[in-house]
Amino acid sequence: MIQGQRRVAVAVRVGHVVVGGSDAVVVQSMTNTDTADARGTAEQVAALARAGSELVRITVNNEAAAQAVPEIRQRLDDAGVDVPLIGDFHYNGHQLLPQFQGMARALAKYRINPGNVGAARRHDDNFRTIIEQAIAHGKAVRIGVNWGSLDKQLLTQLMDENAKSAKPLSGRDVMIEAMLASALRSAEAAQGYGLGQDRIVLSAKVSTVRDLWDVYERLAERGSYALHLGLTEAGMGAKGIVASTAALAPLLARGIGDTIRVSLTPAPGADRALEVEVAQQILQTMGLRAFTPSVTACPGCGRTTSTLFQELAAEVQEDLKRKMREWRLRYPRVETLRVAVMGCVVNGPGESKHSDIGISLPGTGEAPRAPVYVDGKLHCTLEGPTIAADFGRLVDSYVERRFGQAGAVGAS
Ligand code: SF4
Repeated sequence: MIQGQRRVAVAVRVGHVVVGGSDAVVVQSMTNTDTADARGTAEQVAALARAGSELVRITVNNEAAAQAVPEIRQRLDDAGVDVPLIGDFHYNGHQLLPQFQGMARALAKYRINPGNVGAARRHDDNFRTIIEQAIAHGKAVRIGVNWGSLDKQLLTQLMDENAKSAKPLSGRDVMIEAMLASALRSAEAAQGYGLGQDRIVLSAKVSTVRDLWDVYERLAERGSYALHLGLTEAGMGAKGIVASTAALAPLLARGIGDTIRVSLTPAPGADRALEVEVAQQILQTMGLRAFTPSVTACPGCGRTTSTLFQELAAEVQEDLKRKMREWRLRYPRVETLRVAVMGCVVNGPGESKHSDIGISLPGTGEAPRAPVYVDGKLHCTLEGPTIAADFGRLVDSYVERRFGQAGAVGAS
């Protein structure tokens, strides 16, 4: 139902990845390394790509960063990582792109913030220079408006017009209109300079959920540009994850958004790839894409007084994650596998039957046995200290049978 409602945007090719059209919503992420550190940046890009990021954006903020980009690309190619790189430009893209042609060639897309390309006449000239570079190198461009760096001249103009209007809009609505105008007018200007719509992606990011809904709903109504969707500065930990999910899910459910980024602030030293995992989980839980086998686990309650159930759920999840790299190559569609790990007899058998393979562990006071269900039917009952390992082996053989060469033949 959701996929049937997908808004069809003009498809944009970014390297070998297609954003928009009827293609699936693309996951992207951004590094937080100093781009001038080519080795460190290439390593983080590779880690993000291996986590599932299909596009990776890197900051290009100065000459040292611009100089490092071809080496980053080369290091990735040498490592067999073909993820397209996006250059993030603010203030000086019009100088760096013509000056560092190796960088301009190595990037698959340029991100421009129309609020940060200069003021008045210089704004138009600088913007045009970047667009001409994109045209010369056959690259895509994201025109990325951001609430925090909105084109001040345009905002002032719209505020003045609004003040004179017979029916003035609220300050919030004027701000939203200014964001839309900045994105759409910039796109029109880019097309006027000769960049095709099939090279343009738009975004208009804000940091509050309801504002994001309004901005993107209006943006989607006003053109068929491919849209990059994300809540900017979502924050840290649970707050960042929940805010991003709340922001993106209703828009994605309405078919709005062709590529997404979850902008989490990582804790010091934490894995940057969490933002990729969250983006994938949003798409997978909404049934828009499948990336990895899903594990349904009950939350546990007073009936699960031992930790066996939590341990097994975590173990199964980790085990599936670890095996996926190899499984992906050997077992087509294995990412659609559904596993259940349940805590007791109340919902355990029922939920397990709804999964491809599920285990219902004994709750407090229940007999120490764990029935395993396969394709909705009781398959066997496990008991003893090796329940986790035994269940892991049953999952392995199920995957081999269902998704292996023989099982894949005739699979729906
Ligand atoms: S399945 Fe059992 S253990 Fe899990 S939450 Fe429900 S009642 Fe509690």
